[in-house]
Amino acid sequence: MKQVSSESTFDAAHNLNGNIFVTRPDLPPLEDFIPYLEQIWDRKWLTNNGLFHQELEEKLAQFLGVKYVSLFSNGTLALVTALQVLRITGEVITTPYSFVATTHALNWNDITPVFCDIEPETMNLDPKKLEMLITPKTSAILPVHIYGNPCAVEEIQKIADIYGLHIIYDACHAFGVNIDGQSVLNFGDLSVLSFHATKIFTTMEGGAIVTDNKKLKDRIDYLKNFGFADETTVMAPGINGKMNEMQAALGLLQLESVKENIKRRQEISVNYREKFKDIPGIGFLTDAENVQHNYAYFPIFVDDQKYGMQRDQLYEAFKQEHIYSRRYFYPLISEFPMYRGLASAGQENLPVASRISRQVITLPLYPTLTEEQQDKVIAVVKNNCGAGK
Ligand SMILES: *Cc1c(COP(=O)(O)O)cnc(C)c1O
Repeated sequence: MKQVSSESTFDAAHNLNGNIFVTRPDLPPLEDFIPYLEQIWDRKWLTNNGLFHQELEEKLAQFLGVKYVSLFSNGTLALVTALQVLRITGEVITTPYSFVATTHALNWNDITPVFCDIEPETMNLDPKKLEMLITPKTSAILPVHIYGNPCAVEEIQKIADIYGLHIIYDACHAFGVNIDGQSVLNFGDLSVLSFHATKIFTTMEGGAIVTDNKKLKDRIDYLKNFGFADETTVMAPGINGKMNEMQAALGLLQLESVKENIKRRQEISVNYREKFKDIPGIGFLTDAENVQHNYAYFPIFVDDQKYGMQRDQLYEAFKQEHIYSRRYFYPLISEFPMYRGLASAGQENLPVASRISRQVITLPLYPTLTEEQQDKVIAVVKNNCGAGK
């Protein structure tokens, strides 16, 4: 099978302009996908728990070291459904330092988000600031393993146990992350994954809920299929969140390369860290000894005083070199119009998150990022040190 021409045209344009994007999906060779398509065409079973869907749920559970996986058409619907299956209501304590879908999932369920500040070391929800936000209306905690770095899972669990709160982890960044050899997805009541095109394991669009409870898994499966528990029983106003067979087939192929993908990301991350360690005012995350990381993102944190240039000036300097970094996560979710009026959204309540979101730049990181491209990224950071006006 020949490569389709649009792909080579894209590559030519890509090289011609020398553009470097923050991420690029890791797709299998097209010819490897064709046999899967042939099977789908033969079977004419396109969605509704098809054979590839079943196979991917099993293989993912095995690969990730978890009990049950329920696949979804995307991570946002998985988040919305995770909140519904546990019948979460009232107020939920969450982090403002995340992708906006985390809080939107609460909004879609008429739940009031309560923003909690983050830890300066991990950029995750700070368990020390959690307890004082609990009210009689609080029913759950929705933390995020940001950049794939595990939250303080034990401390959060301890507080949840005392107050009788559910924990749903937004684990959209945390595919394949382990703590002491155990999947990070096994903490809390439920964990939610995203397989969006920008994530390290992708089904183009896609997501999942992870649980160790068979009854919950069943009810999640009902909810993603309009609430049908059987032919005539509708147990709740469910949604259509089903993953189709083409997405599941791509997922099966992705499973074969995701380990290699993570290894390449690790090599690039190690190179970045080595080159940035002596540049004043450039902070970055390091590995925790008991954690198997997935190197999903490479954020740097610019201390403008020490670095001698402002974050946004450096961001523009990257653009000048056709490097399209991103500011994940700026603005804070609590700064968007639909949330900024909340009592917990004030900057004075979120000093760490406010500072970090004004320092962050997420650098290009993906398996096919060449050494030459990495050098270009590093050169921009080096050359602009002290160059601010
Ligand atoms: C990607 C992402 C989501 C949303 O997932 P989709 O699959 O794009 O709907 C939610 N939360 C976080 C932290 C994410 O990174």
